[in-house]
Amino acid sequence: MDWKARVSAEIEDKRNILEELALAIGEHPELGFAEVKAARLLTKVLEESGYHVTRGIAGLETAFLGVCGHGQPNIALLCEYDALPELGHACGHNLIAMASVGAALGLSPFLSEIGGTISVFGTPAEETGSGKVILVEAGFFEQVDAAMMFHPSNQNLLMATGNALDAYEFHFKGKAAHAADSPEEGINALDGVLALFQGVNALREHVAEGVRIHGIITEGGTAANIVPERAVARFYIRAPERELLNRITEKVLNVAKGAALMTGTAVEWNEFELGTDDLRPSHPIALAFGANLQRLGVTDIEEFAIGRGSSDMGNVSRVVPSIHPYLSIGDDLIAHTSEFAKASLGEKGLQVGIIAAQALAFTAIDLLTDPGLLKAAKEEQIACKGSERR
Ligand SMILES: [Zn+2]
Repeated sequence: MDWKARVSAEIEDKRNILEELALAIGEHPELGFAEVKAARLLTKVLEESGYHVTRGIAGLETAFLGVCGHGQPNIALLCEYDALPELGHACGHNLIAMASVGAALGLSPFLSEIGGTISVFGTPAEETGSGKVILVEAGFFEQVDAAMMFHPSNQNLLMATGNALDAYEFHFKGKAAHAADSPEEGINALDGVLALFQGVNALREHVAEGVRIHGIITEGGTAANIVPERAVARFYIRAPERELLNRITEKVLNVAKGAALMTGTAVEWNEFELGTDDLRPSHPIALAFGANLQRLGVTDIEEFAIGRGSSDMGNVSRVVPSIHPYLSIGDDLIAHTSEFAKASLGEKGLQVGIIAAQALAFTAIDLLTDPGLLKAAKEEQIACKGSERR
């Protein structure tokens, strides 16, 4: 039985529904955790195709789970559908949702014959809120054997790593005073922030390759003739592995303490976004995805690259074998630009969404029917586990 040919034809059949989905989400961008319309559209289509849908999982209004089939293996297809402020779908998450739902629609009519379960996860707020971290921590991936999604890009790339990330906001507190008349009475909170930046810059020389520390000052005083009583800075701290990042973050927090001490200020901090773990793509599943892309006529495929960005898919990849491959929707594009947003609504973007749906569905068939593939993926995943979040 050539399941792949049948599933491929089924996805072609549903092309109009899928393109309409991608356009409806793309033309009405919604920010993270506010993707009400996108979640409504996606769950409606899944329900109409035989998926049992639960909305609002893990306490997140715009997260959902659609399940079809029975028993193991249980293969997860992940949807993202959040947009960026002002730019709209400049990361092409509308196409991610289209492809995962497309794969799900292609598989559902045949799943009782193929065997196993398909779980479609709606994972909100990839850009800012790390919805997948919340779903992982709520235990939603404990019954899952493998997780897959694709991401639009400017190249076809099977495997890219991603940095673990921590997001910290530092509040320095001083004492206001007239900056000319009685400066000796004041304590300058902005000096605390500036000392933090200087300390971080000194730390930069002594961190491993691939570490990224980048910050902004969000509050630095209100008037030049008032000693700033309050100053705030935000930092993203990234490293190729969570274990390394934990050590770097500890050093940054010590720098903040030192900055407070040397300026006589007080400092407090909080994590302004949920941190994410490093992305570790599954080699066996990614290579299977690559073979399926070739079957679909895609030829210019890069196998591996080191990525410096971060994604909440990292946390999923630490608990279950996962892939996060990239497909080009335009070779000159740069993500998070208005050009990328335009391409995610364009003809080529929609065509790539269909190919991604087919390749994801084919790879799900491989995982459902070839126990050796899933075994290899699990063995690799267990071998590189053993490290936890702070
Ligand atoms: Zn993205």
